[in-house]
Amino acid sequence: MKTTGRVNGIISNIVIVKADGPVGQNEICYVWTGDTKMMAEVIKVIGDAAYVQVFDSTRGLKIGDRVEFEGHMLEVTLAPGLLSRNYDGLQNDLEKMDGLFIARGSITDPVDYDVEWEFSPLAKVGDKVTAASWLGEVKEQWVMHKIMVPFTMTDCYTVKSVAEVGKYKITDTMAVLTDAEGRDHEVTMVQKWPVKQAVRCYTEKPRPSRIMETGVRPIDTFNPMAEGGTGFIPGPFGAGKTVLQHAISKQADADVIIMVACGERANEVVEIFKEFPELIDPHTGHTLMERTIIICNTSNMPVAAREASVYTGMTIGEYYRSMGLKVLVMADSTSRWAQALREMSNRLEELPGQDAFPMDLSAIISNFYSRAGLVKLVGGQTGSVTFLGTVSPAGGNLKEPVTESTKKAARCFYALSQGRADSKRYPAIDPLESYSKYLEYPEIREYLDEHIEKDWVDLVYAGKTIVQRGKEANDQINILGDDGVPVEYHERFWKSELIDFVILQQDAFDDIDANCPMERQQMMYKMVLGICNQEFAFADFEACSQFFKGLINLFRQMNYSEWKSEKFEGYRKQIEQYVSEQSK
Ligand code: ADP
Ligand code: MG
Repeated sequence: MKTTGRVNGIISNIVIVKADGPVGQNEICYVWTGDTKMMAEVIKVIGDAAYVQVFDSTRGLKIGDRVEFEGHMLEVTLAPGLLSRNYDGLQNDLEKMDGLFIARGSITDPVDYDVEWEFSPLAKVGDKVTAASWLGEVKEQWVMHKIMVPFTMTDCYTVKSVAEVGKYKITDTMAVLTDAEGRDHEVTMVQKWPVKQAVRCYTEKPRPSRIMETGVRPIDTFNPMAEGGTGFIPGPFGAGKTVLQHAISKQADADVIIMVACGERANEVVEIFKEFPELIDPHTGHTLMERTIIICNTSNMPVAAREASVYTGMTIGEYYRSMGLKVLVMADSTSRWAQALREMSNRLEELPGQDAFPMDLSAIISNFYSRAGLVKLVGGQTGSVTFLGTVSPAGGNLKEPVTESTKKAARCFYALSQGRADSKRYPAIDPLESYSKYLEYPEIREYLDEHIEKDWVDLVYAGKTIVQRGKEANDQINILGDDGVPVEYHERFWKSELIDFVILQQDAFDDIDANCPMERQQMMYKMVLGICNQEFAFADFEACSQFFKGLINLFRQMNYSEWKSEKFEGYRKQIEQYVSEQSK
């Protein structure tokens, strides 16, 4: 029998419920007001009092209103048909609602129960299987969606029967599995999983050993993201976090992209809804929407469901990873999630940590990031979840708790600087503050040696050094004046500007420049580095700046030209000529 209860106290969206039976931590319940039921999650239990967080407005709720406990935690429904969908944080299908504005208490099915899928078996009678073993597959968009042993069935089973090739609904029995005691279990195409628990159905979690191309030069060339890696983008309001994440979502070399819009403006998500069905994925030629799932909990939606949205996104990511796919999960912004945690903890009058965030903020963030990763699946294949979040530190202060905690958890740090954004140096990724720890991984070094070129990492560090020295030279010039320093200082400064303008800056709104494939990045970077390694003898600082300004202009034209086109080649020759004239 289900536990029920009565509302006994209301503190904004936290409701104290007097329960008539056992209640578990993180259990889901429904709070009734009139004939509307609102979903809520148990966040604390003291005796027979359950403190529940309502994922909706509690307006009109009264003491004595009825509550029903569900006996399970917040779950996500996993089945074919998730791709291309737009969900809210509780996996309600936003398409089935009126626009982005969800009526209070509305609940929709996350998947279609009537659609038939063309199934092909992968397992045979007699096979030994366990949680996440592949039993068969259906084609979802262009992805081969694996039908797996449910993640909760962690014992060992023997396949008794598998459905034949044919069309089936997701609730049809696709296989029967026999356990060690001889009991049979029917498996369908649909399963549920509690979002706050990591899916651990894999045999190994090796360190990332490949990079994930994003088409964004300052990331791929300077601070590469690993496939199965983690990273974050902190930056003040307006610095370009969302534009950068959207660019990555369009271009990244991933099979499935899950975008969690968390507490940010709704119009940004509407843009994706409009744009993605028309844009083409540069890696497969299919539309971007076909590989994308949007989880949307924008600033106009209930604050409490923000937390659910990031966990739902991650869990769906882990599900597709178990099919042997490369998944990229992105969340914008994780600060809004942390703020929701702070509100909740304050309402519960818990002992606050720094800046009134919960004491365990750091642990919550690192547990979440640790769910990403490259894994070896039970069948021997590999799959990955790469996670990239944004952080919006108040006033751009990188010492605040969410940024600090995330820095401990994530391996790539793409700091957007106000200064760069103000001077329109986009993307505003600060070349000196930012880093990718993957550059230090021997596996990654080896991968780059093999797939880009030998000792590529050394070339990357050489470029970083030039940028660093350029900044130092610029500081000197600013103190001593243009004439107060040797002309070599100017040369050093302008070499770093060359790298900045040609490699680190990229126009996210230009059809060609927006996406720069690795082969092109390599060529451009080596060309620029080659010039930086030359010594020029300029008559004075003016001659120096004039030369580099002209050079930067040519390079930028090249960045705007189609790869290997006549125009592109023309600029390349012009640059060679221009430089050789100066070297004479
Ligand atoms: P944030 O999410 O950090 O608040 P946005 O991503 O919304 O900031 O960016 C704010 C504005 O900055 C954009 O509307 C755009 O005009 C400009 N911008 C950001 N990144 C780029 C870029 N890579 N190229 C050109 N303009 C950019
Ligand atoms: Mg934004």
